[in-house]
Amino acid sequence: MIGRRESVSGAHFAFTDRWGGVSAAPYEELNLGGAVGDTPEAVAANRKLAATSLGLDPARVVWMNQVHGAEVAVVDEPWGTRPVPEVDALVTARRGLALAVLTADCVPVLLADPVAGIAAAAHAGRPGMVKGVVPAAVRAMVELGAAPERIAARTGPAVCGRCYEVPETMRAEVAAVEPTAHAETSWGTPAVDVSAGVHAQLDRLGVCDRAHSPVCTLESGDHFSYRRDRTTGRLASYVWLD
Ligand SMILES: [Zn+2]
Repeated sequence: MIGRRESVSGAHFAFTDRWGGVSAAPYEELNLGGAVGDTPEAVAANRKLAATSLGLDPARVVWMNQVHGAEVAVVDEPWGTRPVPEVDALVTARRGLALAVLTADCVPVLLADPVAGIAAAAHAGRPGMVKGVVPAAVRAMVELGAAPERIAARTGPAVCGRCYEVPETMRAEVAAVEPTAHAETSWGTPAVDVSAGVHAQLDRLGVCDRAHSPVCTLESGDHFSYRRDRTTGRLASYVWLD
Protein backbone atom coordinates (compact mmCIF):
# COMPACT_ATOMS: atom_id res chain seq x y z
CA MET A 1 0.00 0.00 0.00
CA ILE A 2 2.25 2.81 1.24
CA GLY A 3 5.77 1.83 0.28
CA ARG A 4 7.46 4.78 1.93
CA ARG A 5 6.32 7.60 4.16
CA GLU A 6 8.21 10.46 5.78
CA SER A 7 7.28 13.52 7.80
CA VAL A 8 9.53 16.56 8.22
CA SER A 9 8.43 19.47 10.42
CA GLY A 10 4.77 19.00 9.54
CA ALA A 11 5.39 18.26 5.86
CA HIS A 12 4.29 14.79 4.78
CA PHE A 13 5.56 12.73 1.85
CA ALA A 14 4.14 9.34 0.85
CA PHE A 15 4.74 6.93 -2.03
CA THR A 16 2.58 3.91 -2.84
CA ASP A 17 3.63 0.49 -4.06
CA ARG A 18 1.36 -1.77 -6.15
CA TRP A 19 -0.15 -3.87 -3.37
CA GLY A 20 -3.23 -3.60 -1.19
CA GLY A 21 -5.86 -2.49 -3.72
CA VAL A 22 -8.81 -4.03 -5.56
CA SER A 23 -7.75 -3.86 -9.22
CA ALA A 24 -7.57 -7.04 -11.30
CA ALA A 25 -4.62 -7.97 -13.55
CA PRO A 26 -2.81 -6.33 -15.25
CA TYR A 27 -3.52 -3.43 -12.86
CA GLU A 28 -3.18 -5.44 -9.68
CA GLU A 29 -3.58 -4.37 -7.05
CA LEU A 30 -3.40 -0.69 -6.16
CA ASN A 31 -3.73 1.09 -9.50
CA LEU A 32 -4.33 4.79 -8.84
CA GLY A 33 -4.32 5.98 -12.46
CA GLY A 34 -7.64 6.80 -14.10
CA ALA A 35 -6.54 6.73 -17.74
CA VAL A 36 -4.83 3.37 -18.13
CA GLY A 37 -7.76 1.06 -18.93
CA ASP A 38 -8.70 -0.03 -15.40
CA THR A 39 -12.34 0.29 -14.27
CA PRO A 40 -13.29 3.67 -12.75
CA GLU A 41 -14.84 1.83 -9.81
CA ALA A 42 -11.57 0.08 -8.97
CA VAL A 43 -9.56 3.30 -9.28
CA ALA A 44 -12.00 5.17 -7.03
CA ALA A 45 -11.88 2.37 -4.46
CA ASN A 46 -8.08 2.32 -4.57
CA ARG A 47 -7.81 6.10 -4.20
CA LYS A 48 -10.08 5.89 -1.17
CA LEU A 49 -8.03 3.05 0.34
CA ALA A 50 -4.72 4.87 -0.16
CA ALA A 51 -6.01 8.19 1.18
CA THR A 52 -7.60 6.57 4.21
CA SER A 53 -4.39 4.71 5.03
CA LEU A 54 -2.60 8.07 5.04
CA GLY A 55 -5.23 9.71 7.24
CA LEU A 56 -6.40 11.87 4.31
CA ASP A 57 -9.93 12.66 3.15
CA PRO A 58 -10.05 11.27 -0.44
CA ALA A 59 -12.04 14.36 -1.46
CA ARG A 60 -9.14 16.57 -0.34
CA VAL A 61 -6.58 14.94 -2.64
CA VAL A 62 -5.94 16.98 -5.81
CA TRP A 63 -4.94 15.17 -9.02
CA MET A 64 -3.89 16.53 -12.43
CA ASN A 65 -4.06 15.53 -16.09
CA GLN A 66 -0.37 14.92 -16.74
CA VAL A 67 0.85 15.59 -20.26
CA HIS A 68 4.69 15.51 -20.04
CA GLY A 69 4.88 19.31 -20.10
CA ALA A 70 6.16 22.00 -17.76
CA GLU A 71 2.96 23.87 -16.88
CA VAL A 72 2.13 24.49 -13.22
CA ALA A 73 -1.29 25.01 -11.64
CA VAL A 74 -1.72 26.76 -8.30
CA VAL A 75 -4.60 25.18 -6.42
CA ASP A 76 -6.27 26.00 -3.12
CA GLU A 77 -9.23 23.63 -3.15
CA PRO A 78 -10.23 20.39 -4.90
CA TRP A 79 -11.28 20.82 -8.54
CA GLY A 80 -14.86 19.82 -7.77
CA THR A 81 -16.89 20.12 -10.98
CA ARG A 82 -14.20 22.19 -12.72
CA PRO A 83 -12.15 20.45 -15.43
CA VAL A 84 -8.89 18.95 -14.19
CA PRO A 85 -6.15 20.98 -15.88
CA GLU A 86 -3.49 19.52 -18.16
CA VAL A 87 -0.43 20.32 -16.10
CA ASP A 88 2.54 18.44 -14.72
CA ALA A 89 2.93 20.28 -11.43
CA LEU A 90 0.58 21.43 -8.71
CA VAL A 91 1.41 24.02 -6.06
CA THR A 92 -0.66 24.91 -3.02
CA ALA A 93 -0.49 27.28 -0.08
CA ARG A 94 -3.41 25.47 1.55
CA ARG A 95 -2.40 23.40 4.57
CA GLY A 96 -4.19 20.05 4.70
CA LEU A 97 -4.78 19.90 0.96
CA ALA A 98 -2.93 16.91 -0.50
CA LEU A 99 -1.35 17.03 -3.95
CA ALA A 100 -0.89 13.79 -5.88
CA VAL A 101 1.20 12.75 -8.86
CA LEU A 102 0.88 9.51 -10.87
CA THR A 103 3.84 7.60 -12.26
CA ALA A 104 5.02 4.25 -13.59
CA ASP A 105 8.75 4.89 -14.32
CA CYS A 106 8.71 8.72 -14.48
CA VAL A 107 10.04 10.58 -11.44
CA PRO A 108 7.47 11.78 -8.89
CA VAL A 109 8.80 14.93 -7.22
CA LEU A 110 7.38 16.16 -3.91
CA LEU A 111 8.38 19.56 -2.49
CA ALA A 112 7.42 21.35 0.71
CA ASP A 113 8.42 24.47 2.63
CA PRO A 114 6.86 23.80 6.04
CA VAL A 115 7.60 27.31 7.34
CA ALA A 116 5.85 29.11 4.48
CA GLY A 117 3.21 26.38 4.22
CA ILE A 118 3.76 25.79 0.51
CA ALA A 119 3.75 22.34 -1.11
CA ALA A 120 4.16 21.09 -4.66
CA ALA A 121 3.96 17.83 -6.58
CA ALA A 122 5.51 17.39 -10.01
CA HIS A 123 5.61 14.70 -12.70
CA ALA A 124 9.07 14.56 -14.26
CA GLY A 125 9.59 12.07 -17.01
CA ARG A 126 12.35 12.60 -19.53
CA PRO A 127 10.41 15.29 -21.48
CA GLY A 128 9.29 17.11 -18.34
CA MET A 129 12.77 17.11 -16.87
CA VAL A 130 14.19 18.51 -20.09
CA LYS A 131 11.44 21.17 -20.24
CA GLY A 132 12.09 22.15 -16.63
CA VAL A 133 8.86 21.23 -14.87
CA VAL A 134 10.60 20.96 -11.51
CA PRO A 135 12.31 24.39 -11.67
CA ALA A 136 8.92 25.79 -12.78
CA ALA A 137 7.29 24.29 -9.69
CA VAL A 138 10.00 25.72 -7.42
CA ARG A 139 9.58 29.17 -9.00
CA ALA A 140 5.82 29.00 -8.42
CA MET A 141 6.46 28.06 -4.78
CA VAL A 142 8.86 30.98 -4.35
CA GLU A 143 6.27 33.38 -5.81
CA LEU A 144 3.92 32.24 -3.05
CA GLY A 145 6.51 32.83 -0.34
CA ALA A 146 8.60 29.68 -0.18
CA ALA A 147 12.39 29.84 0.17
CA PRO A 148 14.57 27.28 -1.64
CA GLU A 149 16.77 26.75 1.43
CA ARG A 150 13.69 25.70 3.42
CA ILE A 151 12.24 23.38 0.78
CA ALA A 152 12.42 19.65 1.43
CA ALA A 153 12.47 17.66 -1.82
CA ARG A 154 11.75 13.95 -2.11
CA THR A 155 11.72 11.94 -5.34
CA GLY A 156 10.02 8.58 -5.50
CA PRO A 157 10.36 5.22 -7.22
CA ALA A 158 11.34 5.59 -10.89
CA VAL A 159 13.20 3.75 -13.61
CA CYS A 160 16.91 4.09 -12.86
CA GLY A 161 19.70 5.28 -15.08
CA ARG A 162 21.05 1.75 -15.49
CA CYS A 163 17.71 0.57 -16.94
CA TYR A 164 16.38 3.53 -18.96
CA GLU A 165 17.79 2.72 -22.38
CA VAL A 166 17.39 5.36 -25.11
CA PRO A 167 18.86 5.92 -28.59
CA GLU A 168 22.27 7.62 -28.62
CA THR A 169 20.78 10.73 -30.26
CA MET A 170 18.18 11.06 -27.51
CA ARG A 171 20.79 10.73 -24.79
CA ALA A 172 22.80 13.48 -26.48
CA GLU A 173 19.74 15.75 -26.71
CA VAL A 174 18.95 15.28 -23.03
CA ALA A 175 22.59 15.67 -21.93
CA ALA A 176 22.86 18.91 -23.91
CA VAL A 177 20.22 20.34 -21.56
CA GLU A 178 21.08 18.41 -18.40
CA PRO A 179 24.56 16.81 -18.45
CA THR A 180 24.06 14.91 -15.19
CA ALA A 181 21.27 12.85 -16.84
CA HIS A 182 23.81 11.24 -19.19
CA ALA A 183 23.89 7.56 -18.25
CA GLU A 184 24.68 4.07 -19.45
CA THR A 185 22.64 0.90 -19.01
CA SER A 186 24.04 -2.02 -17.01
CA TRP A 187 24.49 -3.72 -20.40
CA GLY A 188 26.55 -0.86 -21.82
CA THR A 189 24.13 1.07 -24.05
CA PRO A 190 23.06 4.76 -23.95
CA ALA A 191 20.69 5.66 -21.13
CA VAL A 192 19.13 8.62 -19.33
CA ASP A 193 18.99 9.13 -15.56
CA VAL A 194 15.97 11.40 -15.11
CA SER A 195 16.19 11.39 -11.32
CA ALA A 196 19.81 12.56 -11.42
CA GLY A 197 18.76 15.36 -13.75
CA VAL A 198 15.95 16.45 -11.43
CA HIS A 199 18.27 16.50 -8.42
CA ALA A 200 20.84 18.55 -10.33
CA GLN A 201 18.13 21.07 -11.23
CA LEU A 202 17.03 21.30 -7.60
CA ASP A 203 20.63 21.68 -6.43
CA ARG A 204 21.20 24.62 -8.78
CA LEU A 205 18.07 26.29 -7.38
CA GLY A 206 19.45 26.01 -3.86
CA VAL A 207 17.21 23.16 -2.73
CA CYS A 208 19.70 21.21 -0.61
CA ASP A 209 17.38 19.09 1.57
CA ARG A 210 16.86 16.31 -0.93
CA ALA A 211 16.40 12.54 -0.88
CA HIS A 212 15.62 10.04 -3.59
CA SER A 213 14.02 6.61 -3.53
CA PRO A 214 16.44 3.71 -4.02
CA VAL A 215 13.67 1.78 -5.81
CA CYS A 216 13.94 1.22 -9.57
CA THR A 217 10.41 0.60 -10.82
CA LEU A 218 11.58 -1.50 -13.76
CA GLU A 219 13.57 -3.78 -11.46
CA SER A 220 10.99 -3.97 -8.66
CA GLY A 221 8.08 -6.41 -8.85
CA ASP A 222 6.41 -4.39 -6.10
CA HIS A 223 5.99 -1.34 -8.35
CA PHE A 224 4.27 -0.57 -11.66
CA SER A 225 6.62 -0.10 -14.62
CA TYR A 226 5.37 1.09 -18.00
CA ARG A 227 8.65 0.19 -19.68
CA ARG A 228 8.49 -3.34 -18.32
CA ASP A 229 4.78 -4.12 -18.69
CA ARG A 230 3.28 -1.47 -21.04
CA THR A 231 -0.32 -2.10 -19.94
CA THR A 232 -0.12 -1.59 -16.21
CA GLY A 233 -1.21 0.55 -13.27
CA ARG A 234 0.09 3.79 -11.82
CA LEU A 235 1.72 4.54 -8.49
CA ALA A 236 0.81 7.69 -6.61
CA SER A 237 2.94 10.05 -4.56
CA TYR A 238 1.33 12.45 -2.09
CA VAL A 239 2.51 15.63 -0.35
CA TRP A 240 0.65 17.73 2.22
CA LEU A 241 1.28 20.06 5.13
CA ASP A 242 -0.24 20.11 8.62
ZN1 LIG B 1 16.92 -0.01 -12.78
